[in-house]
Amino acid sequence: MTGERRVVGVDLGGTNLRAAVICADGRIEHRQSVATDAQDGPEMVIKRMADLVGRVAADGALDSSTVVGVAAPGPLNPKTGVVHFTPNLPGWLNYPLRDALSEQTGLRVVVENDANCAVVGEARFGAAKGASDVIYLGLGTGVGGGIIADGKLISGVSGLGGELGHVCVSIDGPRCTCGGVGCLEAYVAGWAIAREGDLVAVTSDGAALREASGGKAITPRDVIAAAADGDAAAIAILVRAGRALAAATGSFINTFNPELIVIGGGLGVGDSHILTAARDALPDYSFRAQREEARIVIAKLGDDSGLFGAGALALDSLRESVTV
Ligand SMILES: [Zn+2]
Repeated sequence: MTGERRVVGVDLGGTNLRAAVICADGRIEHRQSVATDAQDGPEMVIKRMADLVGRVAADGALDSSTVVGVAAPGPLNPKTGVVHFTPNLPGWLNYPLRDALSEQTGLRVVVENDANCAVVGEARFGAAKGASDVIYLGLGTGVGGGIIADGKLISGVSGLGGELGHVCVSIDGPRCTCGGVGCLEAYVAGWAIAREGDLVAVTSDGAALREASGGKAITPRDVIAAAADGDAAAIAILVRAGRALAAATGSFINTFNPELIVIGGGLGVGDSHILTAARDALPDYSFRAQREEARIVIAKLGDDSGLFGAGALALDSLRESVTV
């Protein structure tokens, strides 16, 4: 075996581009970040990404045999490296991210959906370290998801699977941003909680929410803040989101019999009402035997789970190419 294996991990976010050297033992080195400035379009973003990768690789004294792993917003096809579209990055319509970055850096590149990267990162280096059957749910502006079953990332025939935020938890539920009806995301995403907050704020029960928002449009943070102060209407919104989370999680528990459900994203980590309600309601939506084996835990790597996961996939790719 050759010496210590290291790669470059990249997280392509709507706001920031982040990159670092990721070591096989989970250390992270030479971290750098620049603004994505996504409005400049994909060619400029790729150029920024290539420059960033070049600087990080140089700082880490990595040679041309290293691999770059990129966590990118999807939907994308990891086999072709093409991003189909993404709401936060204007102009990325069927854009060949992998090949464009590889051409500019001269390095081999692997790409994967950011939520899939997050489950890989948590399973390799974070809250699910050592676990072989893991479900990840990232609760934020939207709801991302990832599945590891029997040690393998499950993403389907063209890599588009694992969209756990868009499983239906109510056939007559609210419309989702994806166009579907009653998705988990339509209950528990930031926008869904804000929507419920807006509905309550115009009623006689909405005084605390109106105060929390300072007269502006209600944000999920306002709902969480009002709930933390004990406001019953705000707590009811989060408990309902938690029940939706339980319905989806129960289905995942029955389907995959995971040992861990890892909850990441700003909302999941930031509010205890959602998680408490989800844990309490889980018996309504899952078999006892599987439920007793599954633990719901908070993600450990925070904003870095996607970055670590991208690095882990690049490390796997490096291993596949090493013959000694
Ligand atoms: Zn949806």
